[in-house]
Order: sequence, then structure tokens, then C-alpha cells
Amino acid sequence: MIVIAGLTKKYGDLQALAGVDLQVDRGELFALLGPNGAGKTTMVRIMTGLTRRDGGTVLLGGLDIAAQPAAAKRQVGLVPQVVNLDTELTVYQNLDLHGRFFFMPAADRRARIAELLAYVELGDRAATPVKQLSGGMKRRLLIVRAMMHRPGILFMDEPTVGLDAAIRRRIWSIIRRIQGEGTTIFLTTHYIEEAEYLAGRVAFIDRGRIVTVDRPDRLVQRMGAWAVDYLVDNELRTECFPDREAARQAAAAVAGRVTIRRVNLEDAFLALTGRKVAGEA
Ligand code: ATP
Repeated sequence: MIVIAGLTKKYGDLQALAGVDLQVDRGELFALLGPNGAGKTTMVRIMTGLTRRDGGTVLLGGLDIAAQPAAAKRQVGLVPQVVNLDTELTVYQNLDLHGRFFFMPAADRRARIAELLAYVELGDRAATPVKQLSGGMKRRLLIVRAMMHRPGILFMDEPTVGLDAAIRRRIWSIIRRIQGEGTTIFLTTHYIEEAEYLAGRVAFIDRGRIVTVDRPDRLVQRMGAWAVDYLVDNELRTECFPDREAARQAAAAVAGRVTIRRVNLEDAFLALTGRKVAGEA
């Protein structure tokens, strides 16, 4: 459904994307995981026609975004990282405007808006100005706005950034439902748990390069099962072990504070890039 080959982008001297190749299957929920500045937003912006690429090709549903930009774009919905709703307009008006933009007939727009607002439990907010919504409500509205014209591919750029844990889980269940209905989802995140919980496959991106692509459980298994965290000269060290007993024995040999926990995607990312997803190296 998405085929990316040799994608490059420079901002001045900065190589934001250094030759990205990726393929996403129809109906897949694919996550691009990487730290701030890795190139995630740049990729999404190129694929949704908001930023020009320097080189490489992108096919969306078989359509080349360079050769058939308008047709390619019609297949795509975008949930941007920054909430860009029209805050003076109502919930209904924001969705209606989006539908008009895609030339949806009036009756279809009305029916689709009712359906989508029910979907994210905002049915009683149709007449509310967006500026009166909570942060979580705005995020839900952003998601259904992107779905208004029934795109086959949904790009979600950090869809839960800045939200608290309970609202994040609610958004996750909405994302799962959308995928369950057959939509292909391409999601960027720097939240480990988000990628682990949602994605069928994850690509690690670091400094504009794809480091690896695999199922989250396989990426974790490559590291082992249990991790031991401890401090050496106030610096956090982590070692991974195949079983809990090995981790327990290693922990017993460490002086000072030590934690035993499950291996996660952060450990895999750190091992492959030398950097943490959540912070700087
Ligand atoms: P974040 O999660 O913080 O949005 P990201 O992985 O999405 O990070 P990008 O926003 O794609 O990363 O940025 C990749 C690199 O390109 C960064 O070093 C960023 O500073 C730089 N960059 C992004 N947009 C521009 C721009 N318009 N002009 C110059 N540099 C840019």
C-alpha cells in the first residue's frame, strides 16, 4: 500500500532523510519509532504532499506522488502532530469544511460527520466551538477529520504526544478499531509503549536512516527477555539476559541499586543505534 524507495531530503546542510526504503502492506499498522529530530515528521510530510523530497519515489496505493499528486493525496488522511483545527469553528464545521475540500456531497458529509462523531464519542459536541474542547477531545477530532473522506491510508504523526496515560489509551483503542476496519495506518512515535502496543511492524529511524524493520516482539526477543539496570559512576547501565534467573544472578553481583525488568523496544533501539528513543545519547 505504501512503497518508499531511496527517499532523501536535505534542509541546507542537514541530511534529514538519507535514503529511506520501506514497504507497508494493505491493512497493516506500521510504526516509525525514533527520537526527536530523527526525520519522522519529514517523512510524513513528504508522503502527504506537504514537503518536497529531494530524491527517491513514494507510491501510495500504487500511485506515484510525483506523477499523480492529487489522486495519491485523495487516498490519504493525515493526523498532524500539531493540532491545526480551526478553533473558532464548531466541531461540525471543522469536519464539514474538510468534506467540502474533498468535494463530498452535502448529504454524504452530514451522514459521515454523524457516524464519525459517534465513533469517537463526540456526538453531543457537534455544535461546540473547538476552542472549548479538552486536549484529548481535540486529538479525537483530529483523527476523525483525517478519516472524513474515507482514506485507505491514515498517516498519524505522534497522535498522542503530550496526552496523559488514560487519554492515550483511549486514542489507542480508536486507532486499533480504525485498523480493524481495514485502513492502513502509518504512525510515527517516540513512545516505546505506543509502538509496542499498536504496531504489527516497527521501523527504527535514527538520523534520517532506517536502522531495522521487524515485529516489535521479534525486536525485543533479539535482545533477550529480562534486563538488569544499575548505576556505575551515576551512569545507567543495562544488560539483557535470556531468562529471569540469569538476570537475577547478574543483579545479585551488582553493588548498589539495581532493577530487574522486562526487555523492551528501548533496549533494542539503544543496542542498534547507541541512542535512546526518549532522550539524547
Ligand atoms: P520530532 O518528533 O521532534 O518532530 P522528527 O523525527 O519528526 O522529530 P523531523 O521533524 O523530521 O524529525 O526533523 C528531522 C531533522 O530535520 C531535524 O534535525 C530537524 O531539526 C530538521 N528540520 C525539520 N524541518 C526543518 C525545516 N523546515 N528547516 C530546517 N530543518 C528542518
